[in-house]
Amino acid sequence: MNILILGSGGREHALAWATLQNPKCDKLIVAPGNAGIAQIAECASINTEDGGAVSEFASENNIDLIIIGPEAPLAAGVADTLREAGFAVFGPSAAAARLEASKSFTKEICDAANAPTASYGHFTDAEAAKAHVREQGAPIVVKADGLAAGKGVIIAETVAQAEEAIDDMFGGGFGAAGAEVVIEEFMTGEEASFFVLVDGEVCLPVGTAQDHKRVGDGDTGPNTGGMGAYSPAPIMTDEVTQKALDEIVRPTMAEMVRRGTPYQGVLYVGLMIENGQPRLVEYNVRFGDPECQVLMLRLGGQALDLMQACAEGRLADAQVTWADDHAMTVVLAAQGYPGAYEKGSEIKGLDKLPEDSAHMTFHAGTTAVDGKITATGGRVLNATARGATLAEAQERAYALVDAIDWPQGFCRRDIGWRAL
Ligand code: ATP
Repeated sequence: MNILILGSGGREHALAWATLQNPKCDKLIVAPGNAGIAQIAECASINTEDGGAVSEFASENNIDLIIIGPEAPLAAGVADTLREAGFAVFGPSAAAARLEASKSFTKEICDAANAPTASYGHFTDAEAAKAHVREQGAPIVVKADGLAAGKGVIIAETVAQAEEAIDDMFGGGFGAAGAEVVIEEFMTGEEASFFVLVDGEVCLPVGTAQDHKRVGDGDTGPNTGGMGAYSPAPIMTDEVTQKALDEIVRPTMAEMVRRGTPYQGVLYVGLMIENGQPRLVEYNVRFGDPECQVLMLRLGGQALDLMQACAEGRLADAQVTWADDHAMTVVLAAQGYPGAYEKGSEIKGLDKLPEDSAHMTFHAGTTAVDGKITATGGRVLNATARGATLAEAQERAYALVDAIDWPQGFCRRDIGWRAL
């Protein structure tokens, strides 16, 4: 089978690695890829948000399955164009990708499906939004409706802060994403991510994870794209998982079918859990990055069979075989991230790292220059390891980190603290 993966991050390196563990894979191309991916697969430079260009490339290369990593091509309708051209695609249509692209849409689907989530109001006018905030009081959560790369959410401790956030959003501070604002009840509890493959009708859980969004140890400092993650999430007991499936995922996916926009791909279910009751924080329409890295290390080659079954509408016959294992990934980022950071520093020692079913260092923002690997992004590497316990996975992941020679990088030293 010939496979094309779209994307260039640590998530796509992990997807590529897992795909190659499966003997079914004859040829793998990743577009655009990165320096780490280039060591294991062919990389192609195509515009991944142009469905026509991807479709033409896939035809020329006899591709059988296309796996779409990031949200931007999904929101742009690349999966629609590819399906119309007859390809098997892992990733939802633009209409179904609204579950990530519009927060008010997701809230509306939750209402229709009676799925537990924060109560909310939805506004296109600053004065009405502020009146709602004054009525509800603080803490309260103010969200730009559209895609804002994780930066469109303000947890306001006071009414004044919430009013300021509303003015910022309607004042154009968030571009088109801020033309509509969702104001939510502040939920307390513990967060976890739950990943479910959906082929339209059938929902198949493929793991849980918890990540660390803040840049600093002890969950301090500004938010980032994620500084590390581990799987499974201890708070996702069998009971909580079943509730999340029965009360949130299945009813909302049935609502998507009812509306004529069935969901096909991986659904990232962001949950807040309190007293054993999960509530939906958000849906994303792709694997999380860095959560994908720990899921892929745990799933290995079967990930390809599962993604193929999902793309071909055959999940009813699919099942996941779990080892009794744990995985952790630690993100190495360029100093200064998530603010301004230098590009171009050399990373040494990567060729000496173990690479096997228990250790993989996935690349995110790297480029190969004259045979040297250099850092060209904010989040640069993901030291990822598996073990019989989370403590063992952590020890192995940090052993990878410590063997990497990159003085211009940094990482958190406490990934997994909550679970450990
Ligand atoms: P990302 O995709 O980066 O997680 P996003 O922009 O899609 O972010 P959300 O996931 O909706 O936004 O919110 C980001 C974070 O804010 C959540 O992970 C959670 O920690 C917090 N948050 C969001 N909504 C609420 C809420 N109603 N109550 C408490 N915390 C919330």
